Amino acid sequence: MTRWLLRGCDLVATFNDDGTELRGGDVLVDGDVIEAVGTDLPTDGCDQVVDGSGLVVLPGLVNAHQHLYQGGVRAVPELERALIGPWLGRLGAIVKGWWAAGDFEPDAVQAIAAAVLTESLLGGVTTVADQHYFHPAGTTLPYVEATIAAAAEVGVRLHACRGTITDGPDPDVVQSIDEVLRHCEQLIADHHDPAPGSMVQVALAPCGVHVDHLELFDELAALAADHDGVRLHTHLYEHVDTEAAFHRYGKSPWELLVEHGWAQERTWLAHMVDVPHPELGEMAAAGVAVAHLPAPDLKMGWGTAPFRKFLDAGLTVGMGTTGSSSNDGANLLGDLRLAALAHRTGEPDPERWPTARELLRAATRGSAECLGRHDLGVLAPGRRADLAAWDLRTVDRIGVHDPLAGLVLTGLSSHASLVAVGGRILVEAGVPTFDVAAVAARARAVIPCC
Ligand SMILES: [Zn+2]
Repeated sequence: MTRWLLRGCDLVATFNDDGTELRGGDVLVDGDVIEAVGTDLPTDGCDQVVDGSGLVVLPGLVNAHQHLYQGGVRAVPELERALIGPWLGRLGAIVKGWWAAGDFEPDAVQAIAAAVLTESLLGGVTTVADQHYFHPAGTTLPYVEATIAAAAEVGVRLHACRGTITDGPDPDVVQSIDEVLRHCEQLIADHHDPAPGSMVQVALAPCGVHVDHLELFDELAALAADHDGVRLHTHLYEHVDTEAAFHRYGKSPWELLVEHGWAQERTWLAHMVDVPHPELGEMAAAGVAVAHLPAPDLKMGWGTAPFRKFLDAGLTVGMGTTGSSSNDGANLLGDLRLAALAHRTGEPDPERWPTARELLRAATRGSAECLGRHDLGVLAPGRRADLAAWDLRTVDRIGVHDPLAGLVLTGLSSHASLVAVGGRILVEAGVPTFDVAAVAARARAVIPCC
């Protein structure tokens, strides 16, 4: 167990209840836990003292919605400008084609996931919630297990969300409810660790009411209730599910979730673009959390989800990137800049535009709370030592008056200078402790057509 002190940072932003920000602050780490946050902390017993000069330090960023396998499907010409319906069909056809040719086995997914998780880590992300839903031929290959192995390789925390399609338009990628439940139970038994400091947790994550049987939502809510810390996740209000819910059932997607046991504190929802605003209060009252995904919402031409109304309603709000097919990257900090700017369109009152602090809080503490991780997301004694720090002395950040606003609004790169997960320093002075070029080469070698 290593004890180390990050000393003399330009700013330590804790995101605790008081919003404490310390100029010239220190963070003392003992093993995988933060022992103290303050100024002029003693170095007694430390194995290492890290110079924090020029650094702005945050809790590690948490990506509350990702599809890691899509790291193999970036900037695809036929997906560059497509509405959600054709986009889903074309993406599915590409990946299914790879699988049919024997080019999309679990080891390929592991290599791609390791690359995207490495990209995430370099950008200050220390925890990722990944939803893997591609399960061809009705059976279950160990794709989710491959993402778990990739996270262990890279050293980041993973919330492995077992995705499903049980009622989709392509029978080749549809699974039975029984097979989904069998595999969910197996994943929980083999990998789910609900304890504080856990590196892997399992969540149950149907793709949505447009491609899953409603009965599955009941079954998964019941299964989650039997296991400490197993949470529920799905896409909601991303246009396709909204249309399907009203067309097939005559109800809103949220009304369907309420009827099928998902109006509860274990649930967090991704997108929420065309949500009827009166439902937000119901969701908040139920304890449901929301992951805001600004980049894919814009790429799909949907505009911006009502971030300010989420906050007004009292919802817990996290941030995510979604998969690379509708983002083309896993740069969560970069997406905060996008959000900071995009939410100004159509809102005449600048007081309602999101601040950098609100966005950073969502991407740290908010996302951690989406995942039920009250051991993460805040720099405070007793929390796990997941840290990310950026150097504001670089040429692209001169003249910054407010370090947190500057972190979001300026910069040529979102690469962090220091990243630690559970006290393990994985990036120091901007240099990763492992061979990033090898990670990229391994992924490139398994991706067809690149
Ligand atoms: Zn998604």
